[in-house]
Amino acid sequence: MVLESYNNREIAKKITQKIHEYADFIEEDLIFMHVCGSHEWTISHNGVRSLLPSNVDIRPGPGCPVCITPVDDIDNAIKLAQEGKTILVYGDMSRSKGSKGQSLLDVRALGCNIKIVYSIQDAILNAKRDPTKEFIFFGVGFDTTSPPTAFEVLNGLPKNLSLIISYRYMPPIVGSVLKSSVLGIDGVINPGHSSTITGMMPYYQYFLETRKPQVFCGFEPVDLLLGILMLLRQIKDNSPRLENEYQRSVTWEGNKIAQEKLEKVFDLDNGHVRGVATIPKSGFTLKEKYKDYDSYVRYGLSKNNANENFVVGARCGEVILGLCEPVECPLYMKECTSQKPKGPTMVSLEGTCRIWAEHSIISSIKKIKK
Ligand code: SF4
Repeated sequence: MVLESYNNREIAKKITQKIHEYADFIEEDLIFMHVCGSHEWTISHNGVRSLLPSNVDIRPGPGCPVCITPVDDIDNAIKLAQEGKTILVYGDMSRSKGSKGQSLLDVRALGCNIKIVYSIQDAILNAKRDPTKEFIFFGVGFDTTSPPTAFEVLNGLPKNLSLIISYRYMPPIVGSVLKSSVLGIDGVINPGHSSTITGMMPYYQYFLETRKPQVFCGFEPVDLLLGILMLLRQIKDNSPRLENEYQRSVTWEGNKIAQEKLEKVFDLDNGHVRGVATIPKSGFTLKEKYKDYDSYVRYGLSKNNANENFVVGARCGEVILGLCEPVECPLYMKECTSQKPKGPTMVSLEGTCRIWAEHSIISSIKKIKK
């Protein structure tokens, strides 16, 4: 019932009118960015961009977990699989290609043991079922997927299970988006689900550093329209702040229990965000006392810094940064399709290229170039 009003056509119309009214007050062109594949899906699926005034653009940023997972981690998962270990991985992640153009699914076709799992608990069950084999759980995602892993590490993992930890902490990523002079972003729609864990508080320092508007936003069409309206109101009134549209889920402090588990298990270190940069304090890494669970330590793995490594001619890196639309990539819907993806943003259900492809978006709708 509550969600019905967030999908209501009449409410959406009224908010859209207000968006146009506010935008008329503002002379300059505005670029907003969201950092969440689910937000991009709602925007594309509901044609939100087509409702916006000509001086307002909303772009997808680095918010798809598969898209930003470093190639080094994919390469090392493949290496371990080729040595006879079983890799336990989420479905989308198994399709993203490493530096040699192979994915985990490709090496499964060559006889390696790759199993699709839905959670760390699923991975633990697999490891317990066959204690004579070695298993590796490839953990990717942001602040929503890391807490269950922290919880299980505290409980103790089976001896034959280790972890490739590729989790990223979202607030510093949003901080770099806001600070980037290349992107020229005027305001950010913050991700609703990962902010449910982190709370709004860790984002405040980036507000203090940039004084740019941020709105925490839910996932229905009316949520997104309200989020855009709130950003515009802050700019119109010259009153930038952190604002919470998604009050039914996000709080200032977030989920303290999940945060406590994360703090006990992980440190925050430099994290490579594929297509973006190595961002300080964005990468979860197991604390010293849990290092034995780290596949990099257990198997003496190293990183080759092959972290970008996109296919020749592809513009995946620019798509991840919102600097280019999928339709501007020469491979889009030609060599690169959702059936045969060439880049990570076409692999994942949360990737911009995949979302645009599945909504048959074949021409540019970006309006603003700064
Ligand atoms: S269409 Fe394919 S190759 Fe081009 S940017 Fe998207 S994922 Fe990368």
